[in-house]
This record gives sequence, C-alpha cells and structure tokens, in this order.
Amino acid sequence: MLKKISLTLISILFTFCHGYNAVSSTSLDDVMNGKCTIIDLTYPLNSGNAYWPGASYSPFKYETVATLENDGVFSGIYSAPEHLGTHIDAPNHFENNQISVDKLKLEALIGPAAVIDISTKVAGNADYQLTAEDIILWEKSNGLIQNGSIVLLNTGWWTKWNDYDKYKNADENNKLHFPGYSEDAAIFLIEKRNIKGIGIDTLSADYGISSDFIVHHIINGEGKYILENVANLDKLPPNGATLVIAPIKIEGGSGGQTRIWAILPPQ
Ligand SMILES: [Zn+2]
Repeated sequence: MLKKISLTLISILFTFCHGYNAVSSTSLDDVMNGKCTIIDLTYPLNSGNAYWPGASYSPFKYETVATLENDGVFSGIYSAPEHLGTHIDAPNHFENNQISVDKLKLEALIGPAAVIDISTKVAGNADYQLTAEDIILWEKSNGLIQNGSIVLLNTGWWTKWNDYDKYKNADENNKLHFPGYSEDAAIFLIEKRNIKGIGIDTLSADYGISSDFIVHHIINGEGKYILENVANLDKLPPNGATLVIAPIKIEGGSGGQTRIWAILPPQ
C-alpha cells in the first residue's frame, strides 16, 4: 500500500516538475503566487518593428493626441499592418472558409510549448528549413510532442531583430533569405502530431525565398494558426513551458498583434 502511494506521489511529482499540469488549479496558484517564472515572448511595438514587406504594408505609427500638460489626460492613436511585429496568422490568412482571428477558440490559444532549436544549422545556411527528421531527432531527446502543443522554432534569427534590413535579408533580386519550416515538417506536425499551432522567430513560417507559402497553406488549411516574430525563444526549455497567446480581436481580421507569454514550471 505504502509502495503504491509513494509511486503515485512520484508520478504526480514527475508530471508536475515537467510542466504537464502547468494549467491545473495547483499550478495556477503557483503562477498567481509568483512561484513560476513567466517569460514574455512579445516584442514591444514601435516604428522599427519588422513587418511583411508587401505592397501597401507600412511601419507601426504612434502619435500622441492628448497630453497631461495640455489636456489633463495622456492618450495616443496608432496604426499597423496586421502582420507586423509579434503577431498571429489566423486560419483565414491563406485559406478560404477558415476562421478569422476573432473566432479563434481561447482553448486553442493555451497549450504546452515544444521548442525546437535549429540555430546551429541556420548559422551555416540562412535558407535552412526545419525537416521532419529534425523533429524526430528532437523527440528522441525530449519525448513525443504532446497533444495540443504549440511548436516553436528557435532559428537564431531573432539576433537580427533590431535591424529590419538584416532581418528580412533581401538579395539583389529582392528575394528574402531567412529560415523556416519545410513542407514535410508541416505535414508531419499536422498528420502525426495533434498540434494547436506553430511559431517562429522570423517574418514567416515559410522560409524567405518561398513563393508558394506552402507551410501557411498546410497549417491554415487545417484551421491552425501561425505565430511570427516571436521573441525570447532562446530563454525557453525544449519542453515544460505553457504558452498563453492573446491576439488582438479584430472582427474578420487575418491576424494581428499578439501578446504571448510562457509560464515555466515552479522550480
Ligand atoms: Zn503573418
């Protein structure tokens, strides 16, 4: 009997320490009591933020419209493309008959993070694409990607965040060069693992020179979302963190600025 109780205890502790119960009521107490480290995965919005360099896209703008000195209240007005800074691509971004950003279920926006680091491979090849083999290799060390995970790709590209030209890395023919997910990796995650969404520390889940945006089509086509320009992925463990994703609620929107944070299990 004692043996059975202690085994149960060990299994509970194992689960707890590995973060699988990170959104249980016990862990929410820990979060509220400050026992968990919370990491902000969001860049602050400013005029230097990277955005998809498409026609009619423009930088973030902010203008003060009232000041305490003159008006007794401080207030501003801002504008930004939906696909600027840390943001979400809603399923309708690349596919018809898919939901807009305001329709994303809140349950889909919370889940365990699986963080895959390919920065070493990217250091030698800016056009590197995560392969299905990379994911399987990650799983050999970290266990299978859990049901309902959000997969985050740390390509190391975040080191260029403060320089938009280096970040989009256009060549003389205006082709962009930065890493992304491969078609095979996207198919593997959709067909073999029950993920809620994917994220990356670059401008796009498809690598820069993509012209068919196949990864967007695969992920959005399954009603899943994509997080882009995600910050601080180097500060996350490969697994054990719980993500909370809070997109702006633009009615009918294709995505938009999104606050994302990761809750680490209590030490
Ligand atoms: Zn986007």
